[in-house]
Amino acid sequence: MKEIPGHLADQMMSAAASAQHISIITHMKPDGDAMGSSTGLYHFLKANGCQNVSIILPSPYPNSTKFLIENIPSGDIADAQSSMQKASELLASSDLIFCLDFNSFHRTESLENTLRESKARKILIDHHLNPDIPSFSIVFSEIEISSASELLFHVLMKTSVINGDAGRLPYATAESLYTGMTTDTNNFNNSTYPSTLEMASELIAHGVDKDRIINEVMHSYKENRLRLIGHLLKDNMTIIPEGGACMVIDSETIKQYNIGEGETEGIVNIPLDIKDVRLSILLKEDNGKARVSLRSKKGVSANFLAASRFNGGGHENASGGRLEFNDEIADISQAKEYTIQCMKEFLAKTDNGSRTA
Ligand code: 5GP
Ligand code: MN
Repeated sequence: MKEIPGHLADQMMSAAASAQHISIITHMKPDGDAMGSSTGLYHFLKANGCQNVSIILPSPYPNSTKFLIENIPSGDIADAQSSMQKASELLASSDLIFCLDFNSFHRTESLENTLRESKARKILIDHHLNPDIPSFSIVFSEIEISSASELLFHVLMKTSVINGDAGRLPYATAESLYTGMTTDTNNFNNSTYPSTLEMASELIAHGVDKDRIINEVMHSYKENRLRLIGHLLKDNMTIIPEGGACMVIDSETIKQYNIGEGETEGIVNIPLDIKDVRLSILLKEDNGKARVSLRSKKGVSANFLAASRFNGGGHENASGGRLEFNDEIADISQAKEYTIQCMKEFLAKTDNGSRTA
C-alpha cells in the first residue's frame, strides 16, 4: 500500500474538530466492512470530542454485525429503508460527511441525490477501484489493502492523537476495525497484505477478542442458511466446462428458507473450492431485478465482467452488480441464461488465468 500522507490525516482531524454535525455513510446492503469501518470511526470521533455523530445506512445492517452497534444510541443511527426521513434529514443537516467503503455516490442508492446535493465537506475512505475523486474534499483511496476498515486503521495511526500507537485507539474502534478486516478477507483467505497482518497483530496486542469476532460474524448463522447451501450445491449449481459456476436464489427459495438480509453472504465463494472453477456467480432475485455477486481466482477479472455485463464493479476478484428485469431479460431464469452465456464468452477468452480480450 502507498504511504498515507500525515497532513491528510491531520486535515481530516481538524475538519472533524470544527464540524457541528458529522455523518458517516456507507454503501447499500452494508457488509461487515461497511459496518465495521462506520462504527469504528463513530467511536473514534466520539472519543475525540465530536458531539454529534450519526451513522447513515442506505439499508438495514446484517444481523451478524448487530454486536457492533449495541453501544450506539439508536438516535445516532438511521437506515433509509426503515426511515427515509430521518436518514435524509441527518445527512442534509451535516456539515461533514465521511463516505466509507464505496467509491461513488450511486452505491448509496436512495440517498444518492441527498448526498450529491449536500454542501458538506466529504471525506472518502475506500478500497474499491475507480473512486470518484472530484466529489470529495479529502480522499483516502487504496486498492492494495484488505478493506476500508484496514485503510481507516492506517489513517487513524497517522493522526497526532494516535501517533502510531494502536493501544491508544478506543477498544470499540479496535474491535470494529478488526471485524471489517475479518469479513472482507474472509478471515485471511483473500486480499491479505503485509499491512493487513500488521494491523491484525497490533489490534490483537491491543486486546481485541478475535475469537468472539469470528464467532459473531462467521459462526452465528441460523440453520436455514446451511440448509439453503445444501440445496444450492445439490440441485442448483451449474458448472460450465470453461471454468465457471452459477447459482441462483429466486424469491420463492428466499421465502422457503426464510433467508434474511446478509444471510447469503459468502455463499458465492464456495464453488471456487473446485479446482477448475475460476469464476463463480450468484444471482439473487430482489424486487424486479437480480443482484449479482461475482468472485474469481487470480488472473480472472470479476471486476471487468461486473462492469462490462452486469452494471457493477468492485474489486479485481470480488465484484457485484445487478440485472434489472426488462424486455430482454424478463425474469430470474432468463437472467441465469444470460449469465451463463456471459461466463462462457468471457472465460473462453481468458486463457491460463489471464484475460486476453
Ligand atoms: P457482494 O458480492 O459481496 O455483494 O459485493 C462484492 C464487491 O462488489 C463489494 O466490494 C461491493 O462493494 C462491490 N459491489 C457490489 N454490488 C455492486 C454494484 O452494484 N456496483 C458496484 N460498482 N460495486 C458493487
Ligand atoms: Mn469493503
